[in-house]
Amino acid sequence: MKASRLYKSEDTIIDVKNQKIGGKKLTIIAGPCSVENKDQILSIAKSVKQSGANFLRGGAFKPRTSPYTFQGLGDEGIELLKYASEQTGLPIVTEIMSINHIDQFVENVDVIQVGARNMQNYELLRELGKIKKPILLKRGISATIEEFLLSAEYIMAGGNENVILCERGIRTFEKFTRNTLDLSAIPALKKLSHLPVIVDPSHSTGLWWMVEPLSKAAISVGADGLMIEVHNDPEKALSDGNQSLKLDKFANLMEKLKPLAQLE
Ligand code: PEP
Ligand code: MN
Repeated sequence: MKASRLYKSEDTIIDVKNQKIGGKKLTIIAGPCSVENKDQILSIAKSVKQSGANFLRGGAFKPRTSPYTFQGLGDEGIELLKYASEQTGLPIVTEIMSINHIDQFVENVDVIQVGARNMQNYELLRELGKIKKPILLKRGISATIEEFLLSAEYIMAGGNENVILCERGIRTFEKFTRNTLDLSAIPALKKLSHLPVIVDPSHSTGLWWMVEPLSKAAISVGADGLMIEVHNDPEKALSDGNQSLKLDKFANLMEKLKPLAQLE
């Protein structure tokens, strides 16, 4: 198994433009749930960069639970992310939903995200195995650690060993939080695999005020990075406003994480 520590004992470090994922430094991926318009993505990108984020995230093709909610800007969203990236120097992370978009993503995106809902879309994973772009693979909503690693294996088996794992909470009986952050998955994944592990405290909880304590917890249990949703006006966000940090709250969080991790 290529994802296994038995295949490779040292930690994998993935180089993306001027950034590294894995290794000593904590990677911070920040940005809105969805790209909504030029001003929104640019102002968020500038602000999170100023606060110390290493990557800009933002959804263009959105996997929404209801077909009647905002589905993302699609191609225009990718163009706006590219523009924000050119203006700030931040590499971009965005989700792919379809095999038909692979060429477009290879050309325009720095890290291709596979969302929780597509973790077991084996045809998509197999196609992503044929390219070299780093893939941020999110854990499925009810996937075991073994299933998660086997999905990473689908990508790696094809020849793309640039996989980043992302724990984003799993579905349990608890309804207070959107999902339940499986903190034990982090040391488990680090033991079983050499791949970098990122934690998404935003989708794990669905609650912005839980992002800080769970970011600290994730660092304590060995996460290589965090993916955090940030919005300039969460009350008006077109998706996931409840779990998005305001720009100043994100800046404040970054200050609080400094004593706990190497940030730059
Ligand atoms: C996201 O990160 O934008 C997202 C939709 O997350 P998940 O796939 O974890 O639900
Ligand atoms: Mn979201």
